[in-house]
Amino acid sequence: MKIISIEHSIEKIALKTPFKTALRTAWDVEFVRVCVRCEGGVFAYGEAPATKAITGEGLEEIVASLEKVAGLFIGKSIGEAFVLLDTLSDIGSSTIAALDIAFVLLDALQKKQTLFEYFGTQNKEALKSAITISLNSSQEMLCDAKKAYEEGMDILKIKLGADISHATKVVHRIAKEVPKAVLLIDANQAWDVEGSRKFIDAIRSLDVALIEQPLGAKEREEMAELTRYSSVPILADESVFTLEDMRYVVEHRCADMINIKLMKCGGIRKAREMLEYARSNKIKCMMGSMLEGPNSIRAAIHLSFAYRDVITFVDLDSPMLYKQSHENMPQDFIYKGNCIGII
Ligand SMILES: [Mg+2]
Repeated sequence: MKIISIEHSIEKIALKTPFKTALRTAWDVEFVRVCVRCEGGVFAYGEAPATKAITGEGLEEIVASLEKVAGLFIGKSIGEAFVLLDTLSDIGSSTIAALDIAFVLLDALQKKQTLFEYFGTQNKEALKSAITISLNSSQEMLCDAKKAYEEGMDILKIKLGADISHATKVVHRIAKEVPKAVLLIDANQAWDVEGSRKFIDAIRSLDVALIEQPLGAKEREEMAELTRYSSVPILADESVFTLEDMRYVVEHRCADMINIKLMKCGGIRKAREMLEYARSNKIKCMMGSMLEGPNSIRAAIHLSFAYRDVITFVDLDSPMLYKQSHENMPQDFIYKGNCIGII
């Protein structure tokens, strides 16, 4: 099965409400969709969202990268495409992820395997995703948290900013008013060591499941210091893009848990290497995502089912945030509240 074309389009899906973190505000999910066609009319999609603040790739960069490399894959088998993709060092991780997702799906089609068979998935029981509570005033965040919980979303990912007293107040208010919700904190690198310690001390009495990326991505030693100090598990997100980063963070105990995202590591095959490493070293992970389109989320959903033994938290809420169901939604997963079912 040889590749005969690789085309791309820019897609946009409106969000119900703006998505705000310490790094950015987004009103839409914007992504590049790649369609890889093979002989015999077989095709598959991959997607890469614009996340310039994280991977350095906006839509323009992704399109430019695709235009640069797409031609290299024409006439190649899927196996050859994988080998070639692994040698491309001058394009970003999201672009690589988009191509990898499409190639993996084609590989499964070529092997006549369902994705369950391909990934070795045993247990298809529904999984729950966290839902993001965007960074806003404490009153707004409390309202959003209450509303989400009333709608059945019981795992809340609370986005916090640099202001530690605001952060502390928000978490105390939500913990008090929505006591049964599981609370995940994400500071998106906004804090320093002193502020983080202050926050950890201030929430000691509360039941918080984890604190994600309190410090800058490169501040590994400080992350290690904080991990030793913290009574709440520390989750590394922006500090870990690749398996190499993950090994470093695990070996030096810079964090207790790792957030794996297809767009950071460069797609399904790289994410599987990280999940296999987690499995053999008993490292708890989160399967995360950017604000993404439905086809890249689908890949992350399949990995979450296949590696549910090491994925303690699933953070794939993008489809829950779309204003309306996207026309090109893949048909093999459904969201009901925060439960993800797979068909
Ligand atoms: Mg994060």
